[in-house]
Amino acid sequence: MTVLASGSKGNATVIAAGSTTILVDAGMSCKELMRRMAQTGEDPQALNAILITHEHLDHIAGLSVLARRLKIPVFFTEQTHRAWVRMLTPRTTMSYAKWLELMQREKETRAEATAAACTLVEDPMEADAAEPLAESAASVDGDDAIPKAKADPAFLPAVEYFRAGHGFSIGDIDINPFTIPHDAADPCGFVFHARSESIRMAIATDLGYVPPNVKMALKHVDVLLLESNHDLEMLKDGPYPWSVKQRVLSRVGHLSNTAAAEFLLHDYDGGAHTIVLGHLSEKNNLPELARLAAEQAIGDRMSLLGNRIVLAAQDAPLNPICL
Ligand SMILES: [Zn+2]
Ligand SMILES: [Zn+2]
Repeated sequence: MTVLASGSKGNATVIAAGSTTILVDAGMSCKELMRRMAQTGEDPQALNAILITHEHLDHIAGLSVLARRLKIPVFFTEQTHRAWVRMLTPRTTMSYAKWLELMQREKETRAEATAAACTLVEDPMEADAAEPLAESAASVDGDDAIPKAKADPAFLPAVEYFRAGHGFSIGDIDINPFTIPHDAADPCGFVFHARSESIRMAIATDLGYVPPNVKMALKHVDVLLLESNHDLEMLKDGPYPWSVKQRVLSRVGHLSNTAAAEFLLHDYDGGAHTIVLGHLSEKNNLPELARLAAEQAIGDRMSLLGNRIVLAAQDAPLNPICL
């Protein structure tokens, strides 16, 4: 597992086993993802697929460019894919004033076109030639006001669907997607199983709390990337507007240091080689606070061989975690 980036400005993690390499989320520009892969010794050309947890921008920002450049398939749930396509489709809503202005302009364009057709064209055969001009003027400024995209922004070389709770495989890696509580269309966490080596790695970030299905999924993992988003006090006193604070704190928001620690204390089976704390808020958390909470929860279960705690960062990739 190589965490390329983790946090609200971008998430991406490489999972590799045998001859298979998967990128989980592509939440930074294609250029930056390539740069970070090079920095950590990961070869972008070796990627077999991109797997998406959910459609929030910090997980998909570089998706289409990267997938097109590498010509690799993207794995989504159908709902996440649909939400992503909707996000990329220009909205056609506008204010009433704007609409009136548009109608006026359209009327003028039509009048001008009619006048031009009448004065220029005596021969009715040529009248047809004048029509497309008027139409193209109307389609740019008229109907939908937004010029048609030259290329489909949602185009991907290949799309594969998976469903939470239904395992599937990509090459040498078995994947178990599980539902997480978060305010997206159909958000998922993943457990990856390197079949030949019986090693399991899991990613669980962007979740408001840890429900029973997530506790179940995170049993017997060797590497766990777990969200430790905010310190409750820092969030409450912090700069976010009240509505955003409510969203983060909600059951479909993000996991606090305290909630992550509670999971580690009461529900975690203690068997991981490494626990990576991720998706730390830059405004409402401090790496030391996240680490302290997790270390207290793990307590005497930390050893040289197990339960090493590592903090993922936003601005730089982590060294690959190799088992
Ligand atoms: Zn996120
Ligand atoms: Zn999210």
